[in-house]
Amino acid sequence: MASNDYYRTLGVARNAGDDEIKTAYRKLAMKHHPDRNPGNTEAEAAFKEINEAYEVLSTPEKRQVYDQYGAEGLKAGAGGRGGFGGFQGGADLGDMFGDLFENLFTQGQGGGRGKPRTRRGADLKAEAGITLEEAFTGVKVPLNIERTEVCRDCDGTGARGRTGIRKCPACRGAGRVQYSQGFFSFSQACPDCGGQGEVITTPCKACGGAGRQKKSASVNIKLPAGVEEGAVLRVSGGGDAGLRGGDSGDLYIQVSLKHHPHFERQGGDLVYEAQVALWQAALGGEVDVPIIEGGRIKIRMPQGTQHGKVFRVHGQGMPSTGGRERGDLLVKVKLEVPHDLTPRQRELFEELAKLAGHEAPPEEKEKGFFKKILG
Ligand SMILES: [Zn+2]
Ligand SMILES: [Zn+2]
Repeated sequence: MASNDYYRTLGVARNAGDDEIKTAYRKLAMKHHPDRNPGNTEAEAAFKEINEAYEVLSTPEKRQVYDQYGAEGLKAGAGGRGGFGGFQGGADLGDMFGDLFENLFTQGQGGGRGKPRTRRGADLKAEAGITLEEAFTGVKVPLNIERTEVCRDCDGTGARGRTGIRKCPACRGAGRVQYSQGFFSFSQACPDCGGQGEVITTPCKACGGAGRQKKSASVNIKLPAGVEEGAVLRVSGGGDAGLRGGDSGDLYIQVSLKHHPHFERQGGDLVYEAQVALWQAALGGEVDVPIIEGGRIKIRMPQGTQHGKVFRVHGQGMPSTGGRERGDLLVKVKLEVPHDLTPRQRELFEELAKLAGHEAPPEEKEKGFFKKILG
């Protein structure tokens, strides 16, 4: 929930002093920092709010406008008054605060010296296409993926040996440099060493100094029995390696089921369309039906079975993931009308037609009739 009460956001009184505001901000910002709450959108939103509140309350001029006119007053000021031109959505100020925050953050962690900034590796996605049979039993799928791994030659430092790295001369190893702008005195990440406090003098041959390398890796993924189309599995740490000792990203695997010649999956059930001859459906009898685990079973079909009728075979469907239950096999009757009749079959059909009080047209005439229409 976005709150426009900046004092409440930081949990300070309206007459709070600068130090009090700064302390409150630092505490909250550290608690909600995205690096500490990866993937937590609530924390991210809170973090943004805290920053917004601090941005205003720590700037005397803005705080004064805010106290008098509220957040709306600041917005109005952004358009109308030159002095606040860069405030709303101002990239410059945002960046400056980002840096300021980072400074507070690293100091807050107790390290006087700039701590090397680690970064988590990227998440990766891959797809596993499996057959329905494999989904039925569960399967180990070998996947070849391209991912970034920590360079083994330099152990991720990017430097060749221990002598290939030395203290950054620009920041004397602190990783940060000071500068001032307007009201603020800022410290920002040292541009020479990227905040590392160290520079590589002789880069590692294998990775060219990056500390990481693209590698093709083969990963075996175990998919459980009953896995469904579109299911996504997460392999924790299976993504790109992190930067400077940061955590690896995750690998997400999306399952897709290949088309099956016999079965269509409907949740836990399997649907099979059985082609049944006209006379078979009329007379009743047994129908031969394939099952997913291999082989066939027979099901009894009563006489007078209609087209579209569905027979349910209990427990011959897909297993539920992680459970012992199994879905059903649904056998759907598809009546087949013969395309060509032998003379004897025709005779019998004609007799059936006669019994029903229906005079069948003579075969030759029928053909001639359609020829006329078509020709
Ligand atoms: Zn290397
Ligand atoms: Zn430096």
